[in-house]
Amino acid sequence: MVQKAEKIWFDGELVNWDDAQVHVLTHTLHYGAGVFEGIRSYVCVDGKSAVFRLKAHVVRLFDSAKIIGIKIPFTIEEITDAIIETLKVNGLKEGYIRPLVFIGDGVMGVHPGSNPIRVAIATWPWGAYLGDDALEKGIRVKTSSFSRHHVNVMMTKAKTCGNYVNSILAKVEAVTDGYDEALMLDTQGYVSEATGENIFIVKDSIIKTTPLTSVLPGITRASLMQVARDLGYEVVEQLFTRDELYIADEAFFCGTAAEVTPIREVDNRVIGEGKCGEVAKLLQKEYFNVVKGGNEKYADWLNYYEI
Ligand code: PMP
Repeated sequence: MVQKAEKIWFDGELVNWDDAQVHVLTHTLHYGAGVFEGIRSYVCVDGKSAVFRLKAHVVRLFDSAKIIGIKIPFTIEEITDAIIETLKVNGLKEGYIRPLVFIGDGVMGVHPGSNPIRVAIATWPWGAYLGDDALEKGIRVKTSSFSRHHVNVMMTKAKTCGNYVNSILAKVEAVTDGYDEALMLDTQGYVSEATGENIFIVKDSIIKTTPLTSVLPGITRASLMQVARDLGYEVVEQLFTRDELYIADEAFFCGTAAEVTPIREVDNRVIGEGKCGEVAKLLQKEYFNVVKGGNEKYADWLNYYEI
């Protein structure tokens, strides 16, 4: 259950959590044309709180909206300020932030006409997304029977609400079959991403991730690529197959919610030594160090706020 906070920012105002309601004829509720973000804030090493890569997330929210043809009735600066304001009013020193842009009620055809564009920002505490053990021990993954979106079926660079029906199909299938997460292949059969995470593999110390074809351009992915390169690793963006994943030395998922989650098994095949690999361990450690303000080099990725 999501832990209630005091307020939700809704269309420019802070309203009580229980009052952030919509009509059942809300257009997005029927057809899925809305966009959202998932952002985290952390308590830093110095005890202050900071949002990780706030600007990149807000820019992606606006990019997603542009891709699906929605004009957000606020500026990037207004949404950025509203996120900080919501965290502060809720007294949340560390947690998850969910901005959502959706089409309100009015006409009910597929064409949304001039229905209002509405914006909500909710915040709540959220621990390890894939379970408490996942970050340390790694997870068991199954290749999904559902393919990831074809690039001309859904717009994969947009974090669109409706895109997640595909994720839900895959996630529920994987969990029902006793796995922690689903790996989805693209429509050509190459490894794409998970239901809410990008993927990396490591072979002979070279780090590989998928190119930005069928995947969401993850902000954690981009951050880890930079951190890994700064640590001296070679990082390549290249399509790879599921059998290349099977014989990788290491594999891990990454995302704002999932952070850096090692993969210990795929399709009942043990990956590497069946535990968090050395590279994943190092990147996970450095990722948590960076998000908590422990490395000056990445200071401009943090937006500090005071409770
Ligand atoms: N792919 C999908 C499908 C996702 O939902 C997410 C989570 N936003 C990611 C990748 C990772 O993106 P990010 O690192 O920006 O959270």
